[in-house]
Amino acid sequence: MFRNFKMVSRVIFGRGCFNQLDDILASERKSDNPVVFMVDDVFEGRPLEKRLPLRQGDLLLWVNVDQEPKTAYVDQLTGQVRDQTKQAGKGLPAAVVGIGGGSTMDLAKAVSLMLTNPGSAADYQGWDLIKNPAVYHLAVPTLSGTGSEVSRTTVLTGPEKKLGINSDYTVFDQIVLDPELLTGVPADQRFYTGMDCYIHCIESLSGTYLNAFSQAYGEKALSLCRQVFLEDCRDADDKLMMASYFGGMSIAYSQVGVCHALSYGLGFVLGIHHGVGNCIAFNQLEEYYPDGVREFRQMLAKQQINLPTNIMAGASDRQIEKMIDVALILEPLWENALGKDWRKQMTRQKIKDLYLAM
Ligand code: NAD
Ligand code: ZN
Repeated sequence: MFRNFKMVSRVIFGRGCFNQLDDILASERKSDNPVVFMVDDVFEGRPLEKRLPLRQGDLLLWVNVDQEPKTAYVDQLTGQVRDQTKQAGKGLPAAVVGIGGGSTMDLAKAVSLMLTNPGSAADYQGWDLIKNPAVYHLAVPTLSGTGSEVSRTTVLTGPEKKLGINSDYTVFDQIVLDPELLTGVPADQRFYTGMDCYIHCIESLSGTYLNAFSQAYGEKALSLCRQVFLEDCRDADDKLMMASYFGGMSIAYSQVGVCHALSYGLGFVLGIHHGVGNCIAFNQLEEYYPDGVREFRQMLAKQQINLPTNIMAGASDRQIEKMIDVALILEPLWENALGKDWRKQMTRQKIKDLYLAM
């Protein structure tokens, strides 16, 4: 069976296009129900705050992403939106707008879904468990690489697992891609999130699930990453923003691989963020992605990034076993990377050795 793939309905791209956000939202404001702005709290007090097109009755929620999104946080934010709209005598929000990096975009997706679906976000971690369409939701990325702006998942850490809410309803209705908003991202963060995109491409392009659709997007995204991280190119932020989009499109119709499986284990047990966790894991994967790892190290050198080392120093045996469990749940990733008989190649001991080298 071929996947009938849901895409973002509308895309606007260009320097300064953020200024059109008010116009775009105007067509969604059919009643006096509020628009909910979920904005990364890094922008509190920054010029972007004054540019938010808030109208009377709208809700502004500053979200904190020091930790990657948890289901409990999604439940708390959803409850807050419900309480505040109820107190104001309003109905379901007209729109949810997420402004920030992958974490904030994922929080906005999750809240828009949970406003129309009962229970906790943790009940929906998995594939196609969502029953009701979400509230209209829109993303404005301020950090590029994750591809969350185009994906059908919102990656959440729940009580038992780190797993996305994967559904057609998760996909954004609109994205606003304004490269100017990437200005001011700290260099190491820009690199780690950018490498998420690079690694999406390498894992997609060398996987067994590869097809012409994924290859077309993956090759373009890879070429853009090379320009951004190996050359002194003009319009680097414009290119990085489109690399993220294309990289996301590439994995949407294929899959990621070994690096992402290991990185999820690092995230769940040690709280290591996705981008940096990917880089730490990828650096150990010469056996699986020899050319990619070599080029990644050139990018590290060119961008003068020092990767954290010896991260397993304080990890207990129990933690390492849990990391292996979390990594092994992600069966499609292993199958994509290593083929149908991946279990013969990837033993618990092999995964443990890879973790211990990090
Ligand atoms: P992030 O959203 O976690 O943000 C990282 C840091 O950068 C934060 O401190 C944030 O405040 C800061 N930041 C964001 N924009 C900034 C700006 N313009 N200027 C200065 N600082 C800024 O980072 P990320 O790497 O974009 O996202 C990682 C998250 O994305 C993880 O939770 C991961 O699981 C998720 N993810 C989701 C998908 C998906 O398809 N849904 C795919 C890959 C990763
Ligand atoms: Zn990723």
